[in-house]
Amino acid sequence: MPWYREAISAAVSFDFMICLPTAVCEQAAYEACVKAYDECTSACDRRYRNCSTLTSVRRLYKAVRAGAMKPLTLRVVLPPEHPAQRTRRFWQAASDGLTIVYYPARYAMSHHIRIFILVIASTLLVVPRPAWPWGSDGHQTVGMIADRLLQQHPTARARVNQILGGVSLSDAAVWADCAKGFRYCHRDPTPEEQAYTHRNPNHHDYHYADVPVQQNAYSPGTAGTKPYDVVQIIRYSIQVLRGQRPNNPPSGADLTEKEALWVLAHIVGDIHQPLHVGAAYFDHQCVHMVDPNVVGAGKPNFGIGTSVVDTTGGNDLMISQTKSLHAYWDDSTVLGAMRLDGVRNKLIADFVTALMRRPPTGWETRGDVDTWPTQWASEIMPLANQAIMDVEIGEATPSQGDRGPKCTWSVTLERDYTNFGNQRANVQLAKAGYRLAALLVAIFEGR
Ligand SMILES: [Zn+2]
Repeated sequence: MPWYREAISAAVSFDFMICLPTAVCEQAAYEACVKAYDECTSACDRRYRNCSTLTSVRRLYKAVRAGAMKPLTLRVVLPPEHPAQRTRRFWQAASDGLTIVYYPARYAMSHHIRIFILVIASTLLVVPRPAWPWGSDGHQTVGMIADRLLQQHPTARARVNQILGGVSLSDAAVWADCAKGFRYCHRDPTPEEQAYTHRNPNHHDYHYADVPVQQNAYSPGTAGTKPYDVVQIIRYSIQVLRGQRPNNPPSGADLTEKEALWVLAHIVGDIHQPLHVGAAYFDHQCVHMVDPNVVGAGKPNFGIGTSVVDTTGGNDLMISQTKSLHAYWDDSTVLGAMRLDGVRNKLIADFVTALMRRPPTGWETRGDVDTWPTQWASEIMPLANQAIMDVEIGEATPSQGDRGPKCTWSVTLERDYTNFGNQRANVQLAKAGYRLAALLVAIFEGR
């Protein structure tokens, strides 16, 4: 078994995994080491979404030192021939913000190197740490914009504080993902999150709708919508927080006031990510893009899963072996948006400051708050269309789905796509933050 397999498959709580960086490979074994490093990294990528490099860990560490991030647990995967002492010396300098677990332990023992676990500061054991999954940057950004805007609205601010028990919206904004399980958040769900998933069996579906990108508006009951999709769950959460709990909530949805608030803090972010609202569908041969509202009219579920193949919101459109177009919009565009604003070290607080220096135009939403999520979903459809249509979709590879035909497609990003994605993500994140704050003010201050 390759040396990294064991370390990668043994799931132990950690924030980041780093395969041995090539820079410290022994010169003699350099080529083999580079190859193993590449294999280790891609094996890690396939299993987790928080595999790191030495450079980004250094950046994270600086952020921890600067107090901009909570301490991290880092798992370092060492190849057998690695001069571990050198790595150990390197990380020893980083002892006051990183908890380091070396793997494989067997190697560590046989070379008289203790498994090197730095004790987590005791406060960390009781304070719930924010998750650090890919994709959390965007959610924390949205939450932090709202946190700052609510400082001007003491009544709403006080209600939010009271309901969340003093936790910021920025921190609470990731809980709806953390509730999904270890791989979404790299910590186990809290008892509170488990209670939420128990009472909400469809909670995975709260995060999105799959409106065909040929449509220019969200319309309930059409293909890709559900009674508990991203739009409907925002409406339901608003009702719960307004004290108007409906007699017939969306099927299986049951949110407490606190859950409704942290679900809102998360989902208002999701609904501003184009691939959380719009989706591409193909005919059953996975060749031609179709609109299930048209080709599946009159069929159960618009033929989706039988005569129409979905792309699960872009999760089946692969820009590389390990990365989908959906994930690209979830995290790469967020990092790109930060770069546009000159933000270094992924410091969310700096990013929020930059975004709020130039508030986005057109974020205000008219009408009763109950109509807002529908308006937001409709507004994003042209962007979802562009996000799909501007990529070059290659040939499909059929795969076995649990329910009928499935495919994955390799896609190529056209020139300028990155720029387009980063710029749009920059605006969408800001809009989501301003809208989350406005929504909470409207709910709690009746405006
Ligand atoms: Zn989500």
